[in-house]
Amino acid sequence: MFTALNQIAAAAIAVAIVAVTSLSGGIGAQVGGAMIGNRTVVVISLRTPGGPPSRCSNAALSSMYFTDARSVSAYFAENSYGAMSVSGAVTGPYEIRLEPGWTPTSVADAADAAATAARVNLSLYSQKVYVLPKEADPTPIQSAWGGRGGRSRLWIRDYWCSSKWLVAHELGHNFGVNHASTPADEYGDFSSSMGGRLDHADPSMWNNMPHFNAPGKIAAGWLPVSAVQAVINGGSFRVASVETVPAPGQIQALKIKAEGEGTDHYYISYRQPLGFSAALTPQYVGTTSVTRWNGANGAKTCLLANLADGQAFADASGFMVAQRSHDASHALVTVTFGTGPLSSARVPCP
Ligand SMILES: [Zn+2]
Repeated sequence: MFTALNQIAAAAIAVAIVAVTSLSGGIGAQVGGAMIGNRTVVVISLRTPGGPPSRCSNAALSSMYFTDARSVSAYFAENSYGAMSVSGAVTGPYEIRLEPGWTPTSVADAADAAATAARVNLSLYSQKVYVLPKEADPTPIQSAWGGRGGRSRLWIRDYWCSSKWLVAHELGHNFGVNHASTPADEYGDFSSSMGGRLDHADPSMWNNMPHFNAPGKIAAGWLPVSAVQAVINGGSFRVASVETVPAPGQIQALKIKAEGEGTDHYYISYRQPLGFSAALTPQYVGTTSVTRWNGANGAKTCLLANLADGQAFADASGFMVAQRSHDASHALVTVTFGTGPLSSARVPCP
């Protein structure tokens, strides 16, 4: 099916450079490791000499990464409450050879050389995304690599090039965020784009990018300290959804040091299908999340429970959190601490 395309492509090495958005300020600013300020991304489309073109055109890539109303750029802007932006350009396609034993790094090095030869100044970009040649798709099982190459590079297989979720997830790794897990599954917290898993044969969820969970937003530096309430005595708390833009006096996460849990804390937060979370998996909608995290940037988070009204999570020490009621913006949550013997029983996470 690629015969006609091969004949067209064989005529010459096609080098097209498409500037998509203006670049503001070069390499993105980082404040204390937080995901604050502008990040610049160059998307490098690749093909083999005479090989088929990418399934995603440059125009389609620029739209999904940077310009459409539901772009990856728009996702990070909303997810960060405006603290972070993503801008950049799509370039290529460049022709590179897939040598036997090729690796993501060897492909990236060849792509960088081709782009540089075409006078693209790659130093303008903090992140380089390589859309691999179609022939690099032996099977659609492994879709992408992120968080490698000094966190400045990521690789997307051609088969998956139209998935915004995949880009958001892998850029999240490059920006320093790890997986949103559950005790049963490293990717099991589908309430965050840092969790989840795509069916290669079913693209219906490929563009579903829910907000990060509360610990993910704290790690990124997006939730202000004032929105995170440390709880040391029991009580009732009104918690706004993580999708809500922070406002003075508004609590969006409870942070609780439970006995017997080492350096970890429980983070209690609330989810609503707002904005990019509009297609939040139904099990999370209107529920209170109980998530464990050790507070370290780059550490996985562990979702332990999602509580509907009247449901509670308890640990072996007698600590308990319950959702009493909820509306479109808040949950009313009660927290109680146990009086029984402390327990070291700890649900492991991947
Ligand atoms: Zn991942």
